[in-house]
Amino acid sequence: MPAARVDDEREDHARAGHASPGERHESPGEHESSGAFLRRAEVRDVLAWMRLLADPHDAAAIVRALARPPIELHQVELARVIQVARRRKLGLVLGLAAATESPHIPPEARERIQRFLDLHASFAGELDVAAPDELLATLVRRLRAPARALLAARDAAEHDAGLERLQELAREFVREFPRASARELARHLATVAPGAGERRGANTGTPAPTTASSRSEGQAGTGGHAGAGSEARGGGVAGADGVAGVSGEAGAGGVAGAGGEAGTGGETGARADAADGERANGVGDEALDDQTAERELHDAFQLLREEVLDAVARIGGRLGELRLDTDLDISHGVARYLELLKVSAALQRPAGQSLADALADVNTRLLAAVTPLQREILQTSPLDAALVRAAEPGAPVAAGGEGASTLTPREQRSLTPFLPRRGTGLALSASDIHTYRSCPLRYKFARVLRIPLEQTVNQRFGIVVHQVLERYHREDGQTLELMLRLLEDCWRRAGFGRDGLDGDLREKALAALTRYHARLRAHDSKPVWFERQFHFRVGPHHLRGRVDRVDRLGDGADAEYELIDYKTSRPKTAEQLHADIQLSLYALAAREDWRLASSRQAYYYVLDDLKVPVAAGARDARSVEEIVLEVGEGILAERFDPTPSPATCAMCDYRITCPVARA
Ligand code: SF4
Repeated sequence: MPAARVDDEREDHARAGHASPGERHESPGEHESSGAFLRRAEVRDVLAWMRLLADPHDAAAIVRALARPPIELHQVELARVIQVARRRKLGLVLGLAAATESPHIPPEARERIQRFLDLHASFAGELDVAAPDELLATLVRRLRAPARALLAARDAAEHDAGLERLQELAREFVREFPRASARELARHLATVAPGAGERRGANTGTPAPTTASSRSEGQAGTGGHAGAGSEARGGGVAGADGVAGVSGEAGAGGVAGAGGEAGTGGETGARADAADGERANGVGDEALDDQTAERELHDAFQLLREEVLDAVARIGGRLGELRLDTDLDISHGVARYLELLKVSAALQRPAGQSLADALADVNTRLLAAVTPLQREILQTSPLDAALVRAAEPGAPVAAGGEGASTLTPREQRSLTPFLPRRGTGLALSASDIHTYRSCPLRYKFARVLRIPLEQTVNQRFGIVVHQVLERYHREDGQTLELMLRLLEDCWRRAGFGRDGLDGDLREKALAALTRYHARLRAHDSKPVWFERQFHFRVGPHHLRGRVDRVDRLGDGADAEYELIDYKTSRPKTAEQLHADIQLSLYALAAREDWRLASSRQAYYYVLDDLKVPVAAGARDARSVEEIVLEVGEGILAERFDPTPSPATCAMCDYRITCPVARA
């Protein structure tokens, strides 16, 4: 199965109507009832460990555990160990063990990896013997971040209260299921972790806990996993150093893609709900915008404050190590502290002063008091642009550029060896471009670190439908009988059954493919190519992909062609697709690679037998090229700042890994 197809199916998995019982996307509002403490970084750290103990193939949770205290593996080494695991076709835990023998992993990173492996082995060994709540309490103690000691008394109390509430969940579980094992608690708590809904739908091969299965499913149905809102603390995939030199694998293929589409309905979720309520209470839009902007600033302040504490602990922990760039770490720490001062000054600026003016004022003072290195770090920081954007809701977000929200650690070494390079440019697909534009950090997780993901039920289902159509046309199929025989074949190979949810999905596939066959007969256009590949260049970048189907409309040398992409997701309207890049890129590919002077484009929503044309010229070739160049420039410059929003994050597979997830 081509990687691009997997990517497409990841985008398709948003279809709520096709969600499995364990695969619903919880709304941010539901999450609130689960407790805001689940958004706290230290709580999510423990949940990540619970997820990886319950499922050692949960790479997103493993990456969080590796990046956060007490391991804190740097991003370059993270990328490298994932690379080792992929090349040896090992799961990440086994890949980590293999990486400790790799000459490309420096001793300090080996020591951190070994720390993870020891911790993992000790807890995995206890899963079936330890009392569940005691094992969790031990895990909480072992993961306690060094930064905890630096917290102000009130913050330390909140920190402890969050972890205490998590432990109370464990005690409740034990009271309800006194004979349950720690493994079953791990599985149960894994269902409250961010992104748990998607993973429950994945074919992990991990059976539900026997004692607690009914409870777990019940919670899945009532909004169990951590969802809305940004994480209360910074952190995430940090990393200060590492040894460059190993060439990354070229190309974006191979890894399953990142998340689904960001949604099209504007901001949904808790914030939008709150805004609606305020409107209903008669608060004017302008006042609402001001409140939102101030709230964003307060959020930024909170995140920065926590990040400064994390950075101080992280840098402090490294000062004793024999390294050559300690001064760089210290300068980053100082710059972080000064940024914290800046946000504080912005929050307390005189009434009537604009944020931009306040920032300009404080920048002048800060820059006069720092070293040249600190000045450079401050001047290249995108924080100001992020704050201004936060204060101007609705302002357009550049693709990873100046306008991107940015609160992630920056004292990181280059990931250049891991970028999907091709020549002097990049290998890019439509999915890559979409992912980067929806959130550059998600692109980094998926295409640079290449954190492996398991497919959800809906993704597997979409792949089966694509496979059937591909094989049917490749064999020049004519009959419905052949179509349905191919469905049976692909269905079985994909590991689907005939009962329960699988049976329901099979019925949908049968009905959809039967309708597809009938429509194919009735077409006045003529399908001429299927799964046609393209390769072309935009500037230094290599664009590649394949188009599901190309129909010729009419006869003669000047006949037009229609580029069709199959979707198994919920249909979108042409208006919702106006910003879509995929088909515009295909049109450019048809012109550049296949020399088709003009083409139309459409999405064909197979399950609804609905073709939605996307108007030709919605994006002209020049604007598509500009987008490609802009995205390529952002990736090459390693601008991977997150652009969180409830809608984008709700469909992201990396919420447990991400430090600023808002869903
Ligand atoms: S959770 Fe949100 S902010 Fe984080 S990587 Fe995913 S889309 Fe980006």
